[in-house]
Amino acid sequence: MSDLRQRFYIENCPVRGEVVHLEEVLHTILAQRDYPQAIRNLLGEMLTSTALLASTLKIKGRISLQIQASGAFKWAVAECNDQGQLRACADFEEHPKFHENGNSSVVLSTLEQPVLFINIEPEFGDRYQGIVPLDKDDLAGCLMQYYDLSAQIPTHLVLASNDQKAGGLLIQLLPRNSEEERQQIDEDLWPRLTMLTSTLKAEELTDLPANEILYRLYNEEDVRLPETEVLSFGCTCSKEKSANALIQIGADAVRETLEVQNPIEMDCQFCNTRYTFTAEEALGLFGQHVS
Ligand SMILES: [Zn+2]
Repeated sequence: MSDLRQRFYIENCPVRGEVVHLEEVLHTILAQRDYPQAIRNLLGEMLTSTALLASTLKIKGRISLQIQASGAFKWAVAECNDQGQLRACADFEEHPKFHENGNSSVVLSTLEQPVLFINIEPEFGDRYQGIVPLDKDDLAGCLMQYYDLSAQIPTHLVLASNDQKAGGLLIQLLPRNSEEERQQIDEDLWPRLTMLTSTLKAEELTDLPANEILYRLYNEEDVRLPETEVLSFGCTCSKEKSANALIQIGADAVRETLEVQNPIEMDCQFCNTRYTFTAEEALGLFGQHVS
């Protein structure tokens, strides 16, 4: 059991869900920088939720969760694409709370003027950005509220993360379209499933295989498991994208940078890959030559 996403259905019920387990991916991402404990746990929850939310999309492209704040905590971002590739990073200054062990509520409680964005970037077509109020205790609570208000799909989400592993489970009540479907509603179904889901302990989410979690929760239901999907670490940075970033800042800024750093070195924040541009290359982007 390593980095997996398991979809599930409940037979004859308008319910779908996913279980995500992260281990290797989490190790790889947390090894990129020296993160204190509370931020490690937050990144684990953000990665798990992007992997869960990515499964609800029917597009080719990627989904990201992005927290921005002022104060000691600057920002964090976690992304997952339709291939199940994940990446994440965060920027922060020192704060004693960041060394506490606990779930995302530890970091969320320190945020000043925070905003959480859900970005959906299809390979083709328009981008979508949703803004999520960060007024619940933890990340799962904020995301559930967002889904209930904005997407109007009843969604229940549980997340857990520790130094070594992260896990999460999402269930959604799907819209019932026909009159026949509406007639068959088991009114008790959704309250029963969400209540059962809330009984999961953090260590069950991080340590148990998906089928074991689903058996413990819903053994009274007829749960169907399609094939498991593999999740992996993947960064989409490239020299071309770094060159585009230089073009964005403009020729004057690039010349100024070259005076203090020649060649220009650009490190990817997600994977630490270094992209180097000689003066000739950097100025060449603007059709200019080294004088
Ligand atoms: Zn990278």
